[in-house]
Amino acid sequence: MSAVTPRLEIDIGKIEHNARSLVSQLGERGISVTGVTKVTLGSPAIAEVMRRAGVKGIGDSRIANIRKMVNARVNSTFVLTRLPLLSEVDDVVNYADISFNSERDVIAQLSISARLAERQHGVMLMVEMGDLREGLMPKDLADAARMVLDSPNLFLRGIGCNLACYGGIAPDAQNMGALTGYATELEKAVGVSLHTISGGNSANLDWALSGSRLGRINNLRLGESILLGRETLHRKALPGLHTDAFRLVAEVIESKHKPSRSWGQHAQSAFGTLPDAGNGGDMHRCILALGRQDCDPEGLTPPAGLRILGASSDHLLVESLNGPLAIGSEHSFLPDYSALLRATTSPYVHQISQRVTPR
Ligand SMILES: *Cc1c(COP(=O)(O)O)cnc(C)c1O
Repeated sequence: MSAVTPRLEIDIGKIEHNARSLVSQLGERGISVTGVTKVTLGSPAIAEVMRRAGVKGIGDSRIANIRKMVNARVNSTFVLTRLPLLSEVDDVVNYADISFNSERDVIAQLSISARLAERQHGVMLMVEMGDLREGLMPKDLADAARMVLDSPNLFLRGIGCNLACYGGIAPDAQNMGALTGYATELEKAVGVSLHTISGGNSANLDWALSGSRLGRINNLRLGESILLGRETLHRKALPGLHTDAFRLVAEVIESKHKPSRSWGQHAQSAFGTLPDAGNGGDMHRCILALGRQDCDPEGLTPPAGLRILGASSDHLLVESLNGPLAIGSEHSFLPDYSALLRATTSPYVHQISQRVTPR
């Protein structure tokens, strides 16, 4: 008997290589890397290889993931990258060292919780730079900073922004220059120096590695580029990085020679799409036990010789171009970010981390 399917095979050696490469390329330019683990469900094994590769901290959007990594004794600074929920501030000060913030009510509560827990908690203030996800409007930055500085058990760690997440706004010399300006103005206004100016995520790599002036930006938070080896503005593979650290393995449950076109009266399919009409000739049509409950089928790259026809909750339909597939045979697909996110959060997908590629 072979291993369970569907399963996500993770080559942590490739992830370590990618992290090491990005840490070194950005380090030469004065930028530290926070390794972001959220798409791995806060995997302690992956956090550990990122740490070994030299990231300056581990970031995750979920406090539950950070708690898991802290409890697994991953020895790192932990940064909560999503704004804390007012209902979770106790956990935030207990498990995260730093959080990203934009709301005074939350900052006030973080201070109270940190005092009760006898902990110091770092605040990064998020600035709105045009992408219209989280962040204070720049004119409100100084007041928020003063509030942090006046709050017991909180310290002002720095400022940051997030681009290309909601509005698709690209990081460039102009908005990164503006962030540098806000940092300098803020230091003047409140009379402290900021430790971290965090310019963004994997979408910032083109800008950061292009040779343009970096100003005061000294940190990026990287998830996808470390894990999948791609920048995220155009999803270009990054030179020298592995794009196949994750493989989703599925098993064939039906293998037939069938017509390429469905017949009968056409209405909607289960997911509202019309089935792909082929040329009408027969083809090797196979079903793999992998569906929308396990991943995002639109985000899968099939292995050579297979063409994805479509998917339902539990079935992935493929055409086999080189003859029939054996029942029970396993086939590996490369997930994109969306497919990976769905796979790691699906209770049906087994995860296997191994080091295939040596350091
Ligand atoms: C997810 C996230 C990141 C990492 O983004 P990638 O595109 O995976 O590099 C960075 N910062 C914040 C605030 C995030 O939510």
